[in-house]
Amino acid sequence: MLTLKEIRLGLVVVIIYLSIGSPTYTLFIYGGSMYSVLNENIQFVKGIGPKKAEKMARLGIFTVKDALYYFPRQFEDRSRQKKIFQLEEGEKTGVRVKIDRINSVSRRKFSITEFYVSDDTGKAKLVFFNKAYLRNTFRVGDIVKVFGSVKKNLGPVTELHNCEIEYDKLDKNTGIIVPVYSLTAGVGNKEVMGMIRNIFESSDISIDEYMPKWLVDKYNLCGVDFAIKNMHFPEKKENVKIAMYRLIFEELLFLQLGLFTVKGNNKVGKGIRFQRHKDMDKIEEKLPFKLTRAQQKAYDEIIEDMTSDRIMNRLVQGDVGSGKTVVAQLALANCVLNGYQGAYMAPTEILAKQHMESFKDFFEGTGIRVEVLTGSSTKKEAREILEDLASGQVDILIGTHALIEDRVEFASLGLVITDEQHRFGVNQRGRLTSKSENPDVLVMTATPIPRTLALILYGDLDISIIDELPPGRKPIETLAIEKRKREFYYMSKVRSEIEKGRQVYVVCPLVEESETLDLKSASEVYDELRYDFFKDLRVGLLHGKMKASEKDQVMEAFKNHELDILVSTTVIEVGVNVPNASLMIIENAERFGLAQLHQLRGRVGRGSEKSYCTLIYGSKTEICRHRMAIMEETNDGFKISEKDLELRGPGDFFGTRQHGLPELRVANLFKHMKILRLVQKEAREIYAQDPALRVKDNEGIRLKIEEMFKSIGGNISI
Ligand code: ADP
Ligand code: MG
Repeated sequence: MLTLKEIRLGLVVVIIYLSIGSPTYTLFIYGGSMYSVLNENIQFVKGIGPKKAEKMARLGIFTVKDALYYFPRQFEDRSRQKKIFQLEEGEKTGVRVKIDRINSVSRRKFSITEFYVSDDTGKAKLVFFNKAYLRNTFRVGDIVKVFGSVKKNLGPVTELHNCEIEYDKLDKNTGIIVPVYSLTAGVGNKEVMGMIRNIFESSDISIDEYMPKWLVDKYNLCGVDFAIKNMHFPEKKENVKIAMYRLIFEELLFLQLGLFTVKGNNKVGKGIRFQRHKDMDKIEEKLPFKLTRAQQKAYDEIIEDMTSDRIMNRLVQGDVGSGKTVVAQLALANCVLNGYQGAYMAPTEILAKQHMESFKDFFEGTGIRVEVLTGSSTKKEAREILEDLASGQVDILIGTHALIEDRVEFASLGLVITDEQHRFGVNQRGRLTSKSENPDVLVMTATPIPRTLALILYGDLDISIIDELPPGRKPIETLAIEKRKREFYYMSKVRSEIEKGRQVYVVCPLVEESETLDLKSASEVYDELRYDFFKDLRVGLLHGKMKASEKDQVMEAFKNHELDILVSTTVIEVGVNVPNASLMIIENAERFGLAQLHQLRGRVGRGSEKSYCTLIYGSKTEICRHRMAIMEETNDGFKISEKDLELRGPGDFFGTRQHGLPELRVANLFKHMKILRLVQKEAREIYAQDPALRVKDNEGIRLKIEEMFKSIGGNISI
């Protein structure tokens, strides 16, 4: 497996070559220019000093190269000039006019400067605030080009406000397509433009091509030099498109190849050729329900993989409650009937134990032995299980990441299933797989990852989607309420659910009280409910800092209906199954990602009763309301996660940066699906032929990938 360290090593190798002076390859010339001009500190660019450089740093611009790759968020087309009579209220546009009269009024710290102007179609007025100096820059009779916002209803003549103004002959900021950059305090758009213009003008700056020539030719990509220049100062609109295409293509390629490389789990070679065992008929018959169409399809796909001699690498993706577990159980049953062992890795102890129960039920009477191994198994238990595992007497081992420890040895591991997969690092998955030569791999995820993101993250996996819930489920009714209605809500709705004999979850974002943020912490809410709102009810508390045994006790009590309300942090997020719980309250819902809210919501609606989810939010922002509305409107996890991705970007998608992907500058995983598909095909091929990217043609790519993943510390955990 190739790690990022090794990629870095590759970089070092290039530098060494440089220093011993081997200048023949284009790559090394590319490396050479990188280390001279492009990597120079931005403060040495004309017009930028140490002070400005500090401000630019806030935009992530430290070097000349950073500046060149700091792309505008949009362009304003100022190439079209209108006549005064064509100006329309509210638009931003350009006109070419003659100055007829100048009028300037100053009062203490405030000034208004007015230019009365005209062209052959009419008269207008340019209004400038606090720009008294313009009075001395321009004269009556000058022909100027102006770009500004049109106000038609303020006075007798049309006015233009917030104008850029230039002499007709200068053609810098008004007569062209102007880039609009994201800015920070103390850095204006003109300054970013000026800086980049100065970089282009200052020296023989040119960026040498790092994409292999065959790729450039095959996809008709423009050169990198052309792309960068036209991303800032396009001569015509079409050039922006051409430049964007090239940059999107490379960005997605680097992302995808980088993930392949980091993950390094594109195993090739022969897998186990299982049979579909004849006893599977009996096991399927024993199921207390009929598989849904979607479950059946996923199961069929799995059996097809298992019976082929390829190694199975499959992702089963399905919304909470869609019934992934039974599909996993069937696959494991078939594996064991074929004489192999199976492993099932869950992200938390609570889940591992819960699965243990459901597996015991499922495999009862089949003679298949299932055991569970977690961090809290006693030494004695663990030793016995491990011995029996190594001798082949344990058929299926369920566990947490304790499963990947070296001491865990299988006699003949044939199938590895990881549940709620995004919680595990890729390396962990790899380590479990390596406990046997070529086991099949099944990855279950309850986070309905949008197809686009799944393609990128799991480009190496085949995907089965369970997009249907078992019949008879009543949709969960979701309501978002403002914090001020909180107490009333607890007193009314919560109490009435409990009086009906139901149970209630209350989820909070933090464990301890927080002084800086007005957040409801689990222990705070627990105290409030137990000692204030509901003195007569049984309230429990569950959070991540408790010992495993304490957590188990509380969970057990809730399951057995010895508690009415369970206050917790997100430890209950995944998989926990208490069908009698019919109400999920989420405090400070604005602190959670939509996908996470959806996961939490999935804890209810598991029984026959109608279930509810209430989001209590303490933020009044537009975006918060928007997000709450999405949750109220839809129960479809796929839709929600798409929205989430849209609103938060892929880096934040899983709620924390630790699962983050590198920031994308131009590519958008939604908009650029088509390009992504092309890229993926090429990435697969490149990776298959040159996984370490050692071939000379691919070294430019390797350097760029290294650069891209450096920003997230190379610590990918997907
Ligand atoms: P997931 O892991 O996908 O969130 P589970 O596997 O825990 O979902 O299934 C949720 C519940 O639905 C379980 O109680 C399970 O027994 C039940 N279930 C699964 N498949 C079906 C089906 N086809 N018909 C009826 N109930 C089902
Ligand atoms: Mg599950």
